This record gives sequence, C-alpha cells and structure tokens, in this order.
Amino acid sequence: MERAAELLSVARRGVAFTGAGASAESGIPTFRGAGGLWTKYDPVKVASIDSFMQDPTAYWMVSKERGGIALAARPNPGHLALVALEAAGVLVAIVTQNTDGLHQASGSSRVVEVHGSSRTVQCLDCGTRESRAVVQARLAVQMPPLCKSCGGMFLKPTVVLFGEPMPVSAMHEALALAQSADVMLVVGSSLVVQPAAGIPVAAVRAGASLIIINAEPTPFDSLAEVVIHGRAGEVLPEILTLVNT
Ligand code: NAD
Ligand code: ZN
Repeated sequence: MERAAELLSVARRGVAFTGAGASAESGIPTFRGAGGLWTKYDPVKVASIDSFMQDPTAYWMVSKERGGIALAARPNPGHLALVALEAAGVLVAIVTQNTDGLHQASGSSRVVEVHGSSRTVQCLDCGTRESRAVVQARLAVQMPPLCKSCGGMFLKPTVVLFGEPMPVSAMHEALALAQSADVMLVVGSSLVVQPAAGIPVAAVRAGASLIIINAEPTPFDSLAEVVIHGRAGEVLPEILTLVNT
C-alpha cells in the first residue's frame, strides 16, 4: 500500500485501467471471479453478436435484470478515490472496460470506454439511438424491444459484444495514454479479455510502473511493481489518504 502511494505521489501522467471489479461494490456483478456472472451464464450465449442476431429476446431477458441493476447503481468509494487522484494531479485519464458510466457519474473528466457504453441503445437496421433507460422501461411491455423509428427488432446496447470489433478511436486514445503514462493503475480487472488487457502491458513496455489492485491474481501480476489483492472500494481510499499525507 505504501509503495503504491509512493509511486502515485510522484506520478504526473498516471492512467487508471478499470474493469468490472471497480463496479462490484456498486452492486454490479462481475463476469469472472467469485460470484461472477459467467458462473451463471454461458458468455458465448449471452454476450456474442452471433447469438444476439439469432435471438435478441434471449439477450434482452438477461439484460432486463442486469440492465436494471446497472442503471440504478451509484459510484462507490473506489470511483470517488479515482476522481480525487485526478484532482490531485496524479491521474490524467481513466481507460475503462466497464460500460456502466459510473466513472463519468462520479465526476472523472476524461474517461475512455474501450468496450462502449450500455447507457445507449442503437437500432442495427436504421441506426436510431435511444437512451437505455427508455428502452429498459419498455421491456415490461415489449420483448424484444422494437425500434421506435423503423420497428426493427435488433436494438443493441452500444457495447462491444464478443465477435464485434473494438471501437477504433477509443483504442487509439487508450494506447496513446498508456504509452505516455508514468504509472498504470489497474483496478478490478481479471486482465484476460483481449485486446483490452494489452493496454496496461503497452504502458509497461513504454516504461510505466504498474500497480494492480484486484480481488484475485491476474496473468500480469509478475509485471507489476505493486500487487494488492483486495477490494477496490477499500484499497483506493486508503491509498488516496497516503498520497495526501
Ligand atoms: P472480469 O469480470 O473479467 O474480472 C473482474 C475482476 O475483478 C475479477 O478478477 C475479480 O476477482 C475482481 N473483483 C471482483 N470484485 C472486486 C472488488 N470489489 N475490488 C477489486 N477487484 C474485484 O472483468 P473485466 O476484466 O472488466 O472483463 C470483463 C468484461 O465484461 C469487461 O470488458 C466489461 O466490458 C464487461 N463487464 C462490464 C461490467 C460493468 O460495466 N460494470 C460488469 C461486468 C462485465
Ligand atoms: Zn430502426
């Protein structure tokens, strides 16, 4: 903990890289790890573009429950500590695999979403966009939800599903931030989803010190200068206190 605070205290171009674990204490289940969603569902069935196109109703049945939880979720002390690290001049940006919008909701000013956002839904037929909250409300009376403009049945949250390409400009921005970072702070990611997990690795290759805060070991722990196994909402505020003293 002290070493992490030491590294962050002198950082001026720090970048945080967050995953589902950063939102776990806001009540949003992770995919992997203890209690993760993949212990309940088959990822290829619920989160791939092929299965979405085959059966949007099956996708939305799972999303009905999950989406409601994510829309109601509020930032936790980990999100707020990252905002404070930005205000302290330590972090310049957050690169996130999360699609829940909680970094923006907590006040972080530069958030790069490499897996898109679940706060918006887009019709794959005509391109019309609607807010997720509006579509979510419709699920009570319409399954699958239909496009308000063309009546199409392929309304997809603007997230990257398995089998879809990464958003090019977000990936470029994330890699550029990683390559100019002095410290890369990974929070709550299993670091197994590619190509996103390559972002912290790119930072290390370009000379950044790596700090990993995660409930469980990751494949890149050996690259890190500091590894803290714990809960983001507890560890980050403690580090913040040390940075501020
Ligand atoms: P992941 O589910 O693969 O891994 C989450 C990691 O967080 C696990 O290793 C787990 O041990 C750890 N963890 C759980 N609770 C924690 C806590 N309180 N503090 C610290 N660590 C904790 O998540 P990932 O690496 O982000 O990859 C999964 C993909 O699923 C992401 O790319 C993302 O797009 C998507 N996803 C997003 C959300 C969200 O938006 N909140 C939620 C689930 C999954
Ligand atoms: Zn449409």
